[in-house]
Amino acid sequence: MNRSLERYAILTGIIIFLCSVQFGACLAGPAIALPVALLMSAIATWLWMYFNLPSDHVWLPPLICICAVMLCVTLSEFVFRNDFVEWFSFLPAGIGSGLTLYFLLLNNARCALCNRRLSTQSLTFQCPRCHMRICDEFCWNFEHRRCTLCLEQRVPILSTHEQWWTRVAGPRYLRGRCQICLGSAEKLDLRICPNCRRPQCRDCWDFNNGDCQRCGTSLSDLPTSLTMTVAHNHHANIHNV
Ligand SMILES: [Zn+2]
Ligand SMILES: [Zn+2]
Ligand SMILES: [Zn+2]
Ligand SMILES: [Zn+2]
Repeated sequence: MNRSLERYAILTGIIIFLCSVQFGACLAGPAIALPVALLMSAIATWLWMYFNLPSDHVWLPPLICICAVMLCVTLSEFVFRNDFVEWFSFLPAGIGSGLTLYFLLLNNARCALCNRRLSTQSLTFQCPRCHMRICDEFCWNFEHRRCTLCLEQRVPILSTHEQWWTRVAGPRYLRGRCQICLGSAEKLDLRICPNCRRPQCRDCWDFNNGDCQRCGTSLSDLPTSLTMTVAHNHHANIHNV
């Protein structure tokens, strides 16, 4: 069976399950219908997330729950009896679904590398190179300001365009050696530091996050992900979790 078809079949099943229980509860009166709306919306939302059903929009599960519950209320009101209070079933339905979603999403945040659960208190970093969300404990390298995977794989971040290098550091430097790896000008593409004028090869500029090893001057026009300070990352992520 087609994977997306299967997901929609599960989704339909959940909605039918929710509706049948809710419809029975509506017939029993508001004292039953309202708590059942809360409970059933919570269960339906949990199932929704458990089966990884479409959740690109966070408001979708609560909206579907509210619509399903209100459909049941409407049917029972018009077909069987009239009870004004039951019209308020949308409130417990929205609350039940919304709260379940909130707690599930909180617990869903995991480190992209070690898969450790990230609590609201833990510090997280967005790696400037791979843009993955990373835990501070095992997967972030403070010294090199990147995730351990990007460090291991030597993932580059600076532009490979000649025009960019000429603009920020001048043309290729043809004498001397790279001040970090000591590679010679014949073999490597050396660019001099705009401040102290010492040569550094393009790979070493990249590995050093665009900073000169000697004087610490940064190249201009670095990628924005790189120029965000670590402190800013702390701040942003604590509030974004
Ligand atoms: Zn981790
Ligand atoms: Zn990374
Ligand atoms: Zn070098
Ligand atoms: Zn320098």
